[in-house]
Amino acid sequence: MIVADRKDIREIREMIKDHEKVLLVGCGTCVTVCLAGGEREVGILGSALRMSLKLAGRGGVTVDECTIERQCEDAFIDALAGQGSKYDAIVSFGCGAGVQALAGRFPKTAVYPGLNTQFIGILEAQGVWAEKCAGCGDCRLGEFAGICPITRCSKRMFNGPCGGSREGKCEVREERDCAWQLIYDRAKETGTLEKLEKIAAPHDWSKGQDGGPRKVIREDQCIAGLGPKA
Ligand code: SF4
Ligand code: SF4
Repeated sequence: MIVADRKDIREIREMIKDHEKVLLVGCGTCVTVCLAGGEREVGILGSALRMSLKLAGRGGVTVDECTIERQCEDAFIDALAGQGSKYDAIVSFGCGAGVQALAGRFPKTAVYPGLNTQFIGILEAQGVWAEKCAGCGDCRLGEFAGICPITRCSKRMFNGPCGGSREGKCEVREERDCAWQLIYDRAKETGTLEKLEKIAAPHDWSKGQDGGPRKVIREDQCIAGLGPKA
């Protein structure tokens, strides 16, 4: 899932300082699961924001809340159709994709991010989310015993280890496991150590963010006459 955390309330208050009618929009998918931007979190933030505005002498500002099932799909934004344009600002508590989807749908309304989108990751322990994938566009987990060297090695080494690891921990971040220790252990466990004897090829970064804006186009899913757009 996409993992995010909430912006500081002071930053959110600063973003809406020129607006009088503000709608806070939560998202019922990833950011609900990571406890950053679901209905509950938006409700708490809404109450805190109203109180904070009142204390700052701006108690007349309207701050309403709603949560839609998914902000990153236009069909779900339909739920806001009659509502969104009644406000002069929307603060999205979706990921960066959700913020931009709302901005596209409400071109005359200011749209702000209420969250800092962090990464694609998993729940590792109660209250702890860990990055697992950077969406590099050319997944190579098969070469590295299922451990991603891009997100889990501090130096992004494809031919590790770097030599700095101590007792299985990373030299850059001592509290983290060395990814290459994990790769070695898992390759040994799964009987695939010989794969690590080959020099791994350089990564094609052009398939990731370094290659510019990306799209996935499935011609078989496109409706004739409606796409794909360039
Ligand atoms: S190799 Fe790329 S796609 Fe695969 S997990 Fe790592 S970042 Fe994600
Ligand atoms: S110690 Fe391990 S995880 Fe840290 S940079 Fe070196 S190889 Fe990567």
